[in-house]
Amino acid sequence: MTELYDVAILGSGFEGSLLGTILAYNGARVLILDAGTHPRFALGESTVRHTFRMLKIIAERFGVPELKEKFYSAEHLHKHVSGGFGVKKNFGFILHHQGQHQNPHEATQFVIPPYREGHEAHLYRQDTDAFLTYTAIHHGATVKYSTRVKEVDAGKDCVFIKSEKDETFRARFIADASGGGHVLSRMWDLRDNPPRVKLQTRCLFTHMIDVKPYDDLNLPHGIPKAPQRWYEGTCHHMFDGGWVWVIPFNNRPGSTNPVISVGVSFDIRKFPKPANLTPQQEWLEFLDRFPSIKEQFQDAKPVRDWVSSDRLQTSCKQTVGDRWALMAGGAGSGFFDALFSRGLAGSMEVTHALAARILKALKEDDFSAGQFEYVARLHENLLQNNDKLVRSAYTSFRDFDLWNAWFRVWVLGVGLGDLKLASTYRRYLRTKDDSLLPDAEEPMGLFFSQHRGFQTLFNAAVAKMDEVEEGRADTKSAANYIFDLIRNANFTPAAHNLGEPECHAINSGKPIIGLKTLLWLFTSAPPDIKNLSLGLLGLGRPQAAAR
Ligand SMILES: Cc1cc2nc3c(=O)[nH]c(=O)nc-3n(C[C@H](O)[C@H](O)[C@H](O)COP(=O)(O)OP(=O)(O)OC[C@H]3O[C@@H](n4cnc5c(N)ncnc54)[C@H](O)[C@@H]3O)c2cc1C
Repeated sequence: MTELYDVAILGSGFEGSLLGTILAYNGARVLILDAGTHPRFALGESTVRHTFRMLKIIAERFGVPELKEKFYSAEHLHKHVSGGFGVKKNFGFILHHQGQHQNPHEATQFVIPPYREGHEAHLYRQDTDAFLTYTAIHHGATVKYSTRVKEVDAGKDCVFIKSEKDETFRARFIADASGGGHVLSRMWDLRDNPPRVKLQTRCLFTHMIDVKPYDDLNLPHGIPKAPQRWYEGTCHHMFDGGWVWVIPFNNRPGSTNPVISVGVSFDIRKFPKPANLTPQQEWLEFLDRFPSIKEQFQDAKPVRDWVSSDRLQTSCKQTVGDRWALMAGGAGSGFFDALFSRGLAGSMEVTHALAARILKALKEDDFSAGQFEYVARLHENLLQNNDKLVRSAYTSFRDFDLWNAWFRVWVLGVGLGDLKLASTYRRYLRTKDDSLLPDAEEPMGLFFSQHRGFQTLFNAAVAKMDEVEEGRADTKSAANYIFDLIRNANFTPAAHNLGEPECHAINSGKPIIGLKTLLWLFTSAPPDIKNLSLGLLGLGRPQAAAR
C-alpha cells in the first residue's frame, strides 16, 4: 500500500504552496503534486491591500514564521524573497478611443498611500511561488514535480490519485489548487456550461522588455496629469470593449528585473478571437488602432511567446464535497478577469478559510462536505461580486463620464473593505479571538458587500450599468445617477472627493484629507464606521450594523 498523506494538493502555485506551508507547519502530512517545476510563469502579479492584509491574518492565525517575517508586505518581499518585484503606488486608468490619440482629461488615478502597510507590489510569480513551495518543503511537505495528475477518485476512506506516469498516491483529503488547469472540475464534469456569470472576456498576454514609461512619451495632446507617475503603478489602458495591463517589475529603485508584464483583455462579444491571426499578429493589429498605446510599445520586445486564451470565466456546479475542495483558481472564483487585480486576494480568502477547516477536519477525522460548506459560499460570493464589478467596468469603458462614475463605486468598496479588514486584523492581534476573523461571518466577496448601505448602493449602480448595457439607459444619465448615489451615501467622508466628477485622482493619503476624515469620524460618521475606525487601534468589537 502507498503512504497515506493527510492532505494532497494539486498544484504548487501561490495557492497550493501557501496552503501546503500552513498545513505542514501545523503538523499535517502534506503531498503537493505539480505537472511542472519551479521556476515557472504564472499570472496574478499585481497585489491589492486585501491580498497582503489577508496574508497578515493568515500569518497570525496559523503562526508560520516565514509568513510573519518575510511575506506579509511588499517591503518584506523585496528584502527577503526577491529583488525582481516591482512597486505599485497607484492604480492608473487611461481611456483611449480607436483611431485617436489619448485625451489627457480622460484618466483617473487611485493612489495607494504608503502609510501602515507600505505600497503594493508587482509580483514576479516565479519567485513568490518557488519561495512558498520551498517553505512548504522546509516544514515537511513532500513535493512531486513533473507529476501531471490524470485520475482522482474520492473514496469513502481516502482519496486515490494517479499521475500520467501511473504513480499512485493516497490522502485523507484533496485540495485542487491547479488554477487554470481546473483538474477536478474537468475530470469530474463539475463545470457549468455556460458559466453562470455574464462577463465574457478573453486575453492575450506575455512578458516584455523595453516598454517605455507612459509618462515619458511625447504625445500630441500630452500625458494625463496625476499625483504619481503612471509607470509607478499598475496601468490600465481602457478602450470600448477591453483594456491593456502594464505591470512593470523594473519600476522600483533596486529592482533587478527588466521585465514588464503586458496583456490585453477583450470583451468577446466586441472582439471575438480571430481564427486567422497569431497572438503576436493580433497584438500588433490592436496597437495600430490605438496610436498613444502604440507609442508606449514602439521599442518593446516580448521575452516569451504571446499566449491567447479562450473565455476566462468558468463556474462549477459544486466546489466542495466529501474529502475534497476546489480552491479559487480551480473553482473559477479566483481566475475571473485581471481587472482590479482581485484574483490573489480571493485566493487568500479561500486559502485562509479552507486551511482552518482542513485542520479541524484532520483533528475530528471528519471530512464530510458540510465541514467545507463555508468555502463553497465564499466561492459563490467572489464569483457573483466579481462579475458585477468587472462587467459594469467593461460597460463603462464606452464613455469617460460613465467610467469616472464607476471608478468611484470601485474605490468606495475597496476603501471600506480595507477599513474592515484592517480593523479585523488589529482586533485579532490584540485578542487572538478567531470569532473576529473574516471566515466567522458571511463572506465579503472581496469588498464591503455585507455593509447594508454599500450593498444597496452597489446593487443600484450595477442595475443602472446593466440598463446601459442593454440599451435602456444612456451613459450620461447613468453617470449622473451613480454620482448622486455616492453623494448621498452617509458612510463616506466628503473629504475623499468621491462625489466630485472633476477630481480625477483619489488620494486618501494626503495629510489634509486624513485630518478632515478624522473630523468627520468624530462629528458625523455613522456608528458602524466609527466602530470600524476604532478597530484600527485594536479597540472595540465588530458591530452588527457594520457586517
Ligand atoms: C489573465 C489573468 C490575469 C490575472 N492577473 C491578476 C493580478 O494582476 N492580480 C491578482 O491578484 N490576480 C490575478 N489573476 C488571478 C491569479 O492568476 C490567480 O488568482 C492565481 O494565479 C491563482 O494561483 P494558483 O496557485 O491558483 O494558480 P497557478 O499559479 O496557475 O498554479 C497552478 C499550478 O497547478 C499545476 N497544474 C495544472 N494542471 C495540473 C495537473 N493536471 N496535475 C498537476 N498539477 C497541475 C500547474 O503546473 C501550476 O503550477 C489573473 C488571472 C488571469 C486569468
